[in-house]
Amino acid sequence: MNKKTSITTLFCMALMIVMFSYLVSPVITYANDTETYEVSSSTLNIRSAPSNDSRIVGQFVKGNQLTTFKEQYGWVQTYYGGKEVWVAKHHLTPVSTSSSASTSPEMKENLTVTVAAESVMIRAGAGTNYKNTHSVYQGDEFDVISSEGDWYQIKLQNGETGWIASWLTTEVGGVVSEETSSSSQENISNPPQQQPASSGSLAGYTIVIDPGHGGKDPGAIGIGDVQEKDIVYSTSNHVVNQLKEAGANVITTRSGDYFVSLEERVRISNDYQTDAFISIHFDSFPLLSVSGTTAYYAHKDDQPLAADIQSSIASSVELTNRGSMHANYKVLRDTNAPSVLVELGFISNQYDVSIVQTNDYQQRVATAITNGLIQYFK
Ligand SMILES: [Zn+2]
Repeated sequence: MNKKTSITTLFCMALMIVMFSYLVSPVITYANDTETYEVSSSTLNIRSAPSNDSRIVGQFVKGNQLTTFKEQYGWVQTYYGGKEVWVAKHHLTPVSTSSSASTSPEMKENLTVTVAAESVMIRAGAGTNYKNTHSVYQGDEFDVISSEGDWYQIKLQNGETGWIASWLTTEVGGVVSEETSSSSQENISNPPQQQPASSGSLAGYTIVIDPGHGGKDPGAIGIGDVQEKDIVYSTSNHVVNQLKEAGANVITTRSGDYFVSLEERVRISNDYQTDAFISIHFDSFPLLSVSGTTAYYAHKDDQPLAADIQSSIASSVELTNRGSMHANYKVLRDTNAPSVLVELGFISNQYDVSIVQTNDYQQRVATAITNGLIQYFK
């Protein structure tokens, strides 16, 4: 075999291998037309990649319909919470192809809707069983990208997409959505979270509560292995409830034990017309005798808010009052709203740690923060 022949042979072999692999391997199919499927199993995990080892980012339930864009290795790609996600195709049954046109994005291209209810939850999918990702308010306008059943997929100001119940919107141009008569359907099936605030001393105010740390970031570790992120979270829940009780619209930067970056916390606050941003933390210090509560502010203008909140806390709990102080924390520096970070006791101190974990303490703090805000907005 001379040199020329062997090169030609190698080239042909390589070509054959490439062609063969195209024939047998399940290469990505880019669907010219999107496909619409219905979930046939009781639950279906939504994953970040087309593999059973990939991260679960959510769940569909039986009857959910989804539009898919790609197919690969028995997985189909769709969008969830504005992100590209994958689900196993064998849990899906196709919805008749003709009806897929009715859910195609082009269908609703020129529709713009206005939020009709005072405050409406934006969800990660077309149904009340999906996670609440944002809140929008009466008069806000959004372009509709697609629709599914009685739900519109809309483009949010931050570039993400989300789903809104069509019966809580009106179409811009004066045509009232057909389903408006069944108005508070979503609120009835989902009573607690974000009821329109109509009364109370904080009615009309939007407060962002920022539970510090979470997930891989435990914050300070205190006596008895107490993790700051956990007490922060339970305390924040008390604060959120008290604020809602007072009529405020409350937005939280984390609603579970997961990591949220400082940038994201700032972004969440700045996405809204936030009247105040309160970050919740607990302290620790190598000197075990140090104890007490502190309120920090970064901008001079925010000092009155820090003072009102701190004096309210100091008068309601038995921990030492360390006053309000300046500190250049990112969440205080970069948020547009008046911002305060409260350190609600030292988990490195035996006395503080025994008190701050109690329901009674967290409840008192929640009431104190609420009263501090009422005082500030007076
Ligand atoms: Zn902290």
